[in-house]
Amino acid sequence: MDDNFEIPSDVLDQIQNNIQNIIENFDIPDANKMEVIKKINFMYTQTKQMSITDTLTKLFNRRHFENEFEREFRRNKRYNNDLSIAIIDIDFFKKINDTYGHSCGDYVLREVAFLIKNNFRQTDTVFRYGGEEFVVLLTETPQQTACVPLERLRKLIENNKFLFNNQEIKVTISIGTTSKTDFENAQSMFDLADKALYEAKNNGRNQTRQLI
Ligand code: GH3
Ligand code: MG
Ligand code: MG
Repeated sequence: MDDNFEIPSDVLDQIQNNIQNIIENFDIPDANKMEVIKKINFMYTQTKQMSITDTLTKLFNRRHFENEFEREFRRNKRYNNDLSIAIIDIDFFKKINDTYGHSCGDYVLREVAFLIKNNFRQTDTVFRYGGEEFVVLLTETPQQTACVPLERLRKLIENNKFLFNNQEIKVTISIGTTSKTDFENAQSMFDLADKALYEAKNNGRNQTRQLI
């Protein structure tokens, strides 16, 4: 299954209608009706959760990021609150795959995802954007403080012992961030963070670059 697949809302509506039909038309004894509804509800919630989760890292996936970012960007437009975004990319990740194998690459991805997730506030949201790229939405975080947790994370990864089959693997990340929101659309804000990431890479990697 495509990790980034999210069930469209009209399909979800149809599923819900079908559930209603099943409950109304099938000969379910009254005494069991509640149990059936509970089971269907559970399956429905599980499916919904799966559609926004990346299977490898258990982080939210890209599709969910796009929806959430759009929402946060609009919230920012309406209430003029602080919003920062950061794009995180593992340095020379292809080399890790090529040197130690794909399953080692997968292990590094899971470990990095775990470290990222635990580094930020509960109100910040972490997503796996693509292969070895992650995005963090830092709500209520102004430009002046956005780099504090990002630099903390960068150092944490640099100093973390990644052990795979008794071999130690050196891992570093580059980060691009911005808190500039006076754009027409969310994509332009994302593009500025991406530009910052590109500069961090070109400037030698293992660093955070902020564009304002
Ligand atoms: P840079 O420092 O410029 O970011 O270099 P890089 O090697 O990290 O970047 P590049 O885009 O060349 O390579 C990304 C690699 O990530 C290539 C791809 O095979 C690997 N990759 C993508 N998804 C997965 C995955 O789910 N598991 C594993 N093991 N590797 C993946
Ligand atoms: Mg990349
Ligand atoms: Mg990379």
